[in-house]
Amino acid sequence: METRRPTNPAAEEILGRYFPVLDHGFVALVDYMGSDEDVERAARVSYGYGTRKTSQTRGLIRYLRRHRHTTPSEMVELKFHCAMPIFVARQWIRHRTASVNEMSGRYSLMPLLFHRPDRTQVQAQSASNRQGRSGEPLDAIYGEVIERWERVRREASTGYEWMVGHDVARELARIDLPLSLYTQWYWKIDLHNLLHFLSLRVDPHAQYEIRAFAVVMAGMLQRVAPLTFEAWRDYDVEGTRLSRGELAALRRLVRVRDGRLEAQSGETLDATDIERLGLSNREVEELLGKLDEPGLPEDFTLDLSRARSPEDFAREMEEAVPKVDRR
Ligand SMILES: Cc1cc2nc3c(=O)[nH]c(=O)nc-3n(C[C@H](O)[C@H](O)[C@H](O)COP(=O)(O)OP(=O)(O)OC[C@H]3O[C@@H](n4cnc5c(N)ncnc54)[C@H](O)[C@@H]3O)c2cc1C
Repeated sequence: METRRPTNPAAEEILGRYFPVLDHGFVALVDYMGSDEDVERAARVSYGYGTRKTSQTRGLIRYLRRHRHTTPSEMVELKFHCAMPIFVARQWIRHRTASVNEMSGRYSLMPLLFHRPDRTQVQAQSASNRQGRSGEPLDAIYGEVIERWERVRREASTGYEWMVGHDVARELARIDLPLSLYTQWYWKIDLHNLLHFLSLRVDPHAQYEIRAFAVVMAGMLQRVAPLTFEAWRDYDVEGTRLSRGELAALRRLVRVRDGRLEAQSGETLDATDIERLGLSNREVEELLGKLDEPGLPEDFTLDLSRARSPEDFAREMEEAVPKVDRR
């Protein structure tokens, strides 16, 4: 039967296709409700499904985003099936505005699949960002790092297999499985809160491993609500907000005259001048970062050739589940 619900052909094309992330993870868009037109319909509280020009919808969506009129975007929802290491899930679950149903390690045997970071990802503790890593990959010790992880995993896996083999309750047998173990969940969120999640998690300050998921999900959003995606990228990802002090610094360099922007010729501000406007060292650094040449923009376009079937992942998970031989 043909549906009367609004659908988007680009989103239909990826529905139920599983996109690999990291070594054993995935994201699939399982379902969605609505698109850009539904944001507009809600904003205008309009009747029926009348068609509008894309340019009109685009203008409204960009206006709503700029002015943080967010409730119309809560009318659109997206539902994902995702598998990620538990340490990624712990960061992800902090986003409280989603509905989540995670696989149960009390009920099911856990697949013994662990995340093994690539050689390029094993870097030193960052000196400037206490929460992150930076610098060249630690090639010289990569092998040893992997071996140390593997040792813990082997020990944890054989302990788990032994316990479930001896009929120890699964809810207890699992308690020392490491954070690198993969878990999975269904995750449903409205468009407004998805954009908030994506803004925080595609940001370079987010941990690489959760970013990898957020980037794929942004590519899915691009197919569900392309105009919203475009506005989000322009205003939130590649745009920025400025504080009072930051604006004061910029107004020293450029001003508005007769409806035009005019450069204050010859004017320069060094870090001390900016600090005098009330910005801390850190804020000065951040302002320079905001105004520095932008790097290449992140390409969120989904690579359809990477998509795999759900059965493919189900098989991989199934094969990693302990084969229990109860005494
Ligand atoms: C780079 C980075 C580093 C982080 N480091 C840490 C860390 O070291 N330790 C740590 O514990 N967390 C850390 N977090 C998690 C962070 O503090 C947030 O918990 C997480 O990003 C979820 O954000 P949120 O609360 O805005 O999102 P959501 O939970 O999705 O909430 C969305 C919005 O709803 C509103 N909201 C939701 N619940 C409430 C509530 N109870 N009361 C009031 N308003 C509410 C808020 O406006 C909120 O912004 C980090 C996050 C990032 C991105």
